[in-house]
Amino acid sequence: MDSEWKEELAGRITTADGLAEVVELTDDERAAAEGRVFAVTPYYLSVVRNSAALRKTVIPRSAEKYRAIGELADPLGEENHRVAPNLIHTYPDKVLFLVTAFCPVYCRYCTRSRMVGKNEFKTTSTFEESFQYIESHPEIRDVLISGGDPLAMTDDALDKLLSRIRAVPHVRMVRIGSKVPAVLPQRITDGLCSILRKHRVWLSLHFIHPDELTPETKTACRKLADSGIGMFSQTVLLKGVNDDTQTLVELFYGLLEINVKPYYLLQCDPVSGSAHFRTPVEKGIELIQSLHGKISGPAIPQYVIDAPGGGGKVPILSSAQIRREGDEVVFQNYEGREYRYPDPM
Ligand SMILES: *Cc1c(COP(=O)(O)O)cnc(C)c1O
Ligand code: SF4
Repeated sequence: MDSEWKEELAGRITTADGLAEVVELTDDERAAAEGRVFAVTPYYLSVVRNSAALRKTVIPRSAEKYRAIGELADPLGEENHRVAPNLIHTYPDKVLFLVTAFCPVYCRYCTRSRMVGKNEFKTTSTFEESFQYIESHPEIRDVLISGGDPLAMTDDALDKLLSRIRAVPHVRMVRIGSKVPAVLPQRITDGLCSILRKHRVWLSLHFIHPDELTPETKTACRKLADSGIGMFSQTVLLKGVNDDTQTLVELFYGLLEINVKPYYLLQCDPVSGSAHFRTPVEKGIELIQSLHGKISGPAIPQYVIDAPGGGGKVPILSSAQIRREGDEVVFQNYEGREYRYPDPM
């Protein structure tokens, strides 16, 4: 039902008092929540409430105030690759189309916290330049629609956007990045499924912990699968949330069971105020090696570091690919260029 998800969104909790009605806040959480912008849907808060791990990812903590060396507001250098108001072109054949700054839930480790929730671009009229860029660049084969969360848009807006992109003959792959099945499963309506199906969209979903795989979320993903929508998942590696083998194995098998292929395990980007979420790169390598050969191949994502500054995602399989220089980890991207990830010992 279309009204159900709109009510969920209208009921988002954005104040410390609102949070305190549902969860018992620590002094640190209350103080941090009072000074910061945050948002969570009533549905996701009911999940978070019973999950010590997920709680850390949506309820602010005072550790966010700390700015570590090497942290940036725009860690992936996206602004340097902006080719139109809503378009980032970093890789040769694919573009990132940022269609909204709105997300139902603000993840505390969000790479795009510089813009998410800040209403930087509201009008669809600014999409025109981005459409024209895609239309006039035949090398673009893959359009990744992201934001913010595109599935928080209305059916009509999505249908129009997708129709325009699908009309470009050289575009062969269209994906939407979304956390909606985890945070707003009510959004997965028949109407939405038929739009995604009509435009043959792949969903790149964001899941971080098996506690997110509730009956509601499983139903939403199965509905998408039954509508013929291809789905994969990206998981950000987060300290104290999912940085152990057992949690990851549980999550990855749980995703396969709902037709979602684990795609990336992402080293957390050095976004401002994220030090308390970041694990050492060595830990990521140890974790991914604990999976290879031991669990179902399709359950294993690629462990990647998104090269700070915009070098693209680099799959890391072994410690032979990295070199430590003091508080930085140095590695090469797909072009053989060196990039540095701040990783204090
Ligand atoms: C992650 C990303 C993509 C998509 O990369 P894939 O490895 O193909 O999933 C595209 N553009 C930008 C800027 C990205 O950060
Ligand atoms: S869903 Fe993605 S874009 Fe939205 S707040 Fe979370 S990490 Fe950021």
